[in-house]
Amino acid sequence: MSERESMPCDVVIVGGGPAGLAAAIRLKQINDALEVVVLEKGSEIGAHILSGAVVDPIALDELLPEWREQNCPMAETPVTDNWHWILGKSGKWSMPHLLMPPFLSNDGCYTGSLGNLTRWLGEQAEALGVMVFPGFPAADVLFDDSGAVAGVVTQDMGVAADGSHKPDYQPGMEIHAKYTLFAEGARGNLTKRMKAKFDLEADCQPQVYGLGVKELWDIDPEKHVPGRVIHTQGWPLSESDTWGGGFLYHQANGQVAIGFVTALDYENPYVSPFQEFQRWKHHPAIREYLEGGKRVAYGARAINEGGWQSVPKLAFPGGALIGCAAGFVNVPRIKGSHTAMKSGMLAAEAVAAAISDGSEKTELSDYDAAVRSSWIADELKKVKNAQPAVAKFGGDIGTALAGIDMWMRTLGIGLPITMKHTPDYTHTHRADLHRPIDYPKPDGVISFDRLTSVSYSYTNHAEEQPCHLKVKNMALQEASELGVFAGPSARYCPAGVYEWVDVEEGDPKFVINSQNCVHCKTCDIKDPNQNIEWVTPEGGGGPNYPNM
Ligand SMILES: Cc1cc2nc3c(=O)[nH]c(=O)nc-3n(C[C@H](O)[C@H](O)[C@H](O)COP(=O)(O)OP(=O)(O)OC[C@H]3O[C@@H](n4cnc5c(N)ncnc54)[C@H](O)[C@@H]3O)c2cc1C
Ligand code: SF4
Repeated sequence: MSERESMPCDVVIVGGGPAGLAAAIRLKQINDALEVVVLEKGSEIGAHILSGAVVDPIALDELLPEWREQNCPMAETPVTDNWHWILGKSGKWSMPHLLMPPFLSNDGCYTGSLGNLTRWLGEQAEALGVMVFPGFPAADVLFDDSGAVAGVVTQDMGVAADGSHKPDYQPGMEIHAKYTLFAEGARGNLTKRMKAKFDLEADCQPQVYGLGVKELWDIDPEKHVPGRVIHTQGWPLSESDTWGGGFLYHQANGQVAIGFVTALDYENPYVSPFQEFQRWKHHPAIREYLEGGKRVAYGARAINEGGWQSVPKLAFPGGALIGCAAGFVNVPRIKGSHTAMKSGMLAAEAVAAAISDGSEKTELSDYDAAVRSSWIADELKKVKNAQPAVAKFGGDIGTALAGIDMWMRTLGIGLPITMKHTPDYTHTHRADLHRPIDYPKPDGVISFDRLTSVSYSYTNHAEEQPCHLKVKNMALQEASELGVFAGPSARYCPAGVYEWVDVEEGDPKFVINSQNCVHCKTCDIKDPNQNIEWVTPEGGGGPNYPNM
């Protein structure tokens, strides 16, 4: 017999981000008698949310039309002007707006903290009677005898590093639900299992990702232009044949949010996304804003970049994927919060209809169909070749081809071509094909080292718990990750979690500083042998982002 307690409900939602909370709110709007549970692994709603963010309000307008008058923090800073810069090593070229398809404009959007928007959505959900449980990761999935998803199990508490039970041991709880919505964001670990179990990616391209590294700065008030939005491409990634770009958003309270996304399909194992970001801040056009300012927060998170062709089958018996768990980011717009919310709302509508028909644990095919005929599909189809064009043909030619393709689709004359993806880890080359990159030392003013940076993510994990970064085969890690690829984990991890020590002594050891992990999921994506699996640590562990 199970020693676990159990709790029945109508719908359990795994993840309290924009997608999960939009789904919860929509469910209660349709039928306030429904019992809806939201599980969130962060210590509070918003603690693990890291985004830009410039938000297209289309989904918020549909969900809570009065949001601007209801103290929603996102209403504070409408976008006032926007720029797209192509950076050389010291100069910049500003792309004329006329060259860009109109849907890339940020007019009508808002810039602010997605974490704070999520906190506000959490309050709206609770006011409607949603049971929101922060500090409760969903660690496992329950299935009924027919193989349908029947709910989830929350993470055990008080387990020692060796697996024994500490005095404060508490087994996780079983949450039994008629429907389970997976809203874990990019590279969710239960989502990954659902994709494998139900073969959800059989008819789509594999998902691909970028790693976004971000800081918040208090800047000189003289330089602050509320609502100014700047995107960059080109340098410094142009030096390592890698692609991605930066953003600098002037937000509320005299702060700018700056960030840098490196596509994880890079070939050179010596690339360090963290250090590319540090270099980028030294570009004269970026540095100008930061000089005289102060860095106040740091974090990192993977972002989906696969686009429409990587959207998997969304529904399976008893459950569905919503938001970035499925992957609805519009890459050229660097926006996924509006599509995440809309997908949550569409799933909620399908769940509420199924429950009112007396169904439970069925396959929500109506949800899958609704997404494919919604504005999410219209929007993502227009940009479906943009990411792969740049990934395949490089920054300059790729951007030009992507622009032509987006314009043609906007004008309704797009060619019937859908470019393909291959998983990011397969792109990593052997180290002997590349030279190490000599990154400049941080100056402690504009640029910083990894460990000082992590302290600004306010990350904390309960001590003495099993490591949540599972290396499946340590011998393979040494022979291949170190032996062939020169230990890229020490460079791609933005939190300094992985280190190879005693290499020169001929006795290499892979040290995992799991307490530093900011839950970005990059190791799960980029390990060249897919030998590292990220699983949920004890509840409340991870970053404590204030307003990322
Ligand atoms: C650097 C960067 C910049 C971006 N800029 C923008 C932008 O400017 N505009 C925009 O619209 N979008 C932007 N995005 C994309 C946007 O952040 C995402 O599309 C959006 O956050 C997706 O929402 P979500 O709810 O699906 O997932 P998330 O926001 O990732 O939320 C998932 C939640 O689920 C929780 N969770 C995960 N697994 C579990 C589990 N097993 N149990 C319990 N809880 C769990 C997480 O802690 C998290 O709170 C950006 C993303 C990044 C990384
Ligand atoms: S250990 Fe993995 S998930 Fe954690 S911060 Fe490093 S790369 Fe990201």
